[in-house]
Amino acid sequence: MAKYNGPVCKLCRREGGKLFLKGDRCFSDKCSYDKREYAPGEHKGIRRKLSEYGEQLREKQKLKRTYGLMEKQFKKTYKTAERMNGITGENLLSLLERRLDNAVYTMGFAVSRKSARLLITHGHFLVNGKKVNIPSYILKPSEKISVLENSKKLEVIKNSVDSSARKTRPEYYEVITEEFTGNLKSIPLRDEIISTANEKLIVELYSK
Ligand code: SF4
Repeated sequence: MAKYNGPVCKLCRREGGKLFLKGDRCFSDKCSYDKREYAPGEHKGIRRKLSEYGEQLREKQKLKRTYGLMEKQFKKTYKTAERMNGITGENLLSLLERRLDNAVYTMGFAVSRKSARLLITHGHFLVNGKKVNIPSYILKPSEKISVLENSKKLEVIKNSVDSSARKTRPEYYEVITEEFTGNLKSIPLRDEIISTANEKLIVELYSK
């Protein structure tokens, strides 16, 4: 799968908001966005006025980068959302939230979605007792995620669990930290999803 290998903090500055791509650093005073809230190439306090298309595009890029997806994968998720019953934009957010890499990150077993993807592809997680190494796997309600017995000793997972206490977790994910398990309680609804994304702008962009 193609992936972005450039400086990730630049992405936050480009999108005008914290995307939380660097684990603990994002919550510390080392966060580059907190120091320089203006976009690369712009001057402090001056943000370029965007056209309608520009705003739609930025909103899409912001969501795509938050979840660490490339265009092809993001569009595929959008197409799935479009085929589902209900509101496309809300379906899109719900599908992104149900991705296994997002679940592992949200539950605190990885410091970032990027780290979660790596751990998943290396086979450290089970879904309902079966090894799943596909980060884009979409969880269904009541499916249980657990860390492999041997993997519970990994520093990278233990450290993430230790520092996850300060994270705000949405209601639809239940975690039993001591057991290194968690489950999706229900399909995430828009008003439960912690996201500042304006999904309507993304739908407008793809509907052109
Ligand atoms: Fe974004 Fe995190 Fe970098 Fe801050 S530290 S700019 S939130 S990736």
